[in-house]
Amino acid sequence: MADDEGRSCLGAPHAPRAPHGRTSPHPGQPTPSGPTPYHRQVLLLVDLDGVVYRGPEPVPGVAAVLAERQAAGDSVVYVTNNSRWHRTEYHQKLRSMGAPVGDGAVMSSARATALALAALPARPRTTLVLGGPGLVRELRDERLRVVSPTPRGLAARPDAVVVGIDFRLTYVRLSIAAQAVRDGALFVATNRDPVFPTPEALNAGAGSIVAAVATAGRREPDLVIGKPEPGLLVEAARAAGVSVEEAVVIGDGVGTDIAAAHRVGARSILMLTGVTTRAQADALPADQRPTWVAADATDLGAILSRLG
Ligand SMILES: [Mg+2]
Repeated sequence: MADDEGRSCLGAPHAPRAPHGRTSPHPGQPTPSGPTPYHRQVLLLVDLDGVVYRGPEPVPGVAAVLAERQAAGDSVVYVTNNSRWHRTEYHQKLRSMGAPVGDGAVMSSARATALALAALPARPRTTLVLGGPGLVRELRDERLRVVSPTPRGLAARPDAVVVGIDFRLTYVRLSIAAQAVRDGALFVATNRDPVFPTPEALNAGAGSIVAAVATAGRREPDLVIGKPEPGLLVEAARAAGVSVEEAVVIGDGVGTDIAAAHRVGARSILMLTGVTTRAQADALPADQRPTWVAADATDLGAILSRLG
């Protein structure tokens, strides 16, 4: 499978895993015995496409650097705006590249949306999903009742509408989701990426579908989970049992990964292995700059080994 929402999925889904449990000492705390640690254990929130891989191809050396960091005690959690897949569908691809995959290793916007909905004080009774089967699975994993954007689904009077990438998008599905929004359901978007790249073209992303629902529903989403909004990183850190401001975000997108890191007060490493060039990084205003810039896996390893 691939990170981009429009590409096909390799490998069968794995069984759901238990939520990520942090077993290493809390960042900043010394290990119980032995010499003074040279490295504090850190939660690394790692973007996928443009960092760990580019489409089907691994970015040279990055998986090995992450595996080294995890062996040294860091926690590695992958954070992706892609809402198409169930989180377990990433495991096989990541393992095939040598990337570390622990329990709860992938926090997609679909997973984060499910966790955010389940944690609401007024937990939705019925959620209408304009999205794919991976998103539906994530919601059901959190024991949320899901209905489809059909006349029957609308008749179930959903009190939440979740919109993600939907490869079965039709006029009827769009119209019904918008009707539920107009009827007052909580309007939640997995992310607002307007487009995503495929080898063939730039395809319409979940954000384009969200925009259509917002236009027909006559209001903007109540909640947007994916980067640059903070929800994805917050849920990833919460699941890992770490304060999000202690995390280090590693990503290739200034307007998504680095902006989200700023929003939550986390440090960030901008990788020049994806959509951002060195010239673009150098031209950033001070308040949008990452904490560090890494040209490649060697730079990344050097930065991470110095973290305190
Ligand atoms: Mg990326």
